[in-house]
Amino acid sequence: MKNINLKSLDKTGIEGFIRSLDLPRYRAHQLILRLYRHGAADMDELTEFSLGLRATIRDRAFISNLRLDDRVRSSDGTEKFLFGLEDDAAIEAVLIPEGGRRTLCVSSQVGCAMACRFCRTGALGLRRNLKAYEIVDQVIAVNRMIFPERVTNVVLMGMGEPLANCDEVIDALWRMVDFIGISKRRITVSTAGIVPGIAALSERAPEVNLAISLNATTDEVRNRIMPVNKRYPLRMLLGACRKFPLSRGRRITIEYVMMDGVNDFPEDARRLVTLLAGIRCKVNLIPLNPFPGCDFRRPPSERVLAFQAILMRHKVRTLIRESRGQDILAACGQLAAAREGGGS
Ligand code: SF4
Repeated sequence: MKNINLKSLDKTGIEGFIRSLDLPRYRAHQLILRLYRHGAADMDELTEFSLGLRATIRDRAFISNLRLDDRVRSSDGTEKFLFGLEDDAAIEAVLIPEGGRRTLCVSSQVGCAMACRFCRTGALGLRRNLKAYEIVDQVIAVNRMIFPERVTNVVLMGMGEPLANCDEVIDALWRMVDFIGISKRRITVSTAGIVPGIAALSERAPEVNLAISLNATTDEVRNRIMPVNKRYPLRMLLGACRKFPLSRGRRITIEYVMMDGVNDFPEDARRLVTLLAGIRCKVNLIPLNPFPGCDFRRPPSERVLAFQAILMRHKVRTLIRESRGQDILAACGQLAAAREGGGS
């Protein structure tokens, strides 16, 4: 066993590694805590292990770390981190402080194959899936940088479609909950609508929150702005939401990016009420934050307010949310896309 990346191992893998060193089982737990909760970046930080043991571990294994390539702070306090991977691909994470919360938006893929037309990452195409440890490493790296504060909430809404990388994402979710100690109630997976992935999430992942990036109320419009809808149309997607198990007090978040003259009509609001009947949910209306070269515009505020009023009249919980960090390209995928020259 040479050159094992310790972070590439899940719990069983770490236990096997510890066994291979003839060490007692509790050492596996110590190693996991050091790597994930304390964010050990190299063997010298494995302080529960003697110098001799650290040397033995170093002979057989290493600890991978994301490379920080850029860190930009917005005037509203949002911070964007651009990370380089071992193969020089770039991903990004965005930290959003809000009261006592520090929410980290993490990436699940390098680029994205979903090609949503209002998203800059969509224009990049998919380069590759992230490994579970590369997803979790975004949390570990940011925890190190903001110490003694810590990330309190995680949303998988950065670059990529999490449920198109289901196995690695589910592994990463378990590591966030079991290894880092983030409450499953404070983790949200957002999907453009990969229906089998929604079922897999309910069957195999910890009980995290689900967000659906819906953005249209007819298949005709959704096919146009989100090609994934041709495979998993609205009826199938909302059927999967109806089946998604929700424990007491939990709701699915419906994300609705509003685009001028595309999906912001009063008829859309009324159709949305009908579509969401029987789904315990809340709606986030997000006026589009257009990027250079984007085909769509932000709707006027009156249109957004009128849309919200219709939903609220029908007792649909609705919030208007602005994208944070607009001055640092903090919307989904924009910093990495700018670096890769995509989307504009
Ligand atoms: S919105 Fe999400 S799923 Fe759609 S292209 Fe962008 S990153 Fe991919």
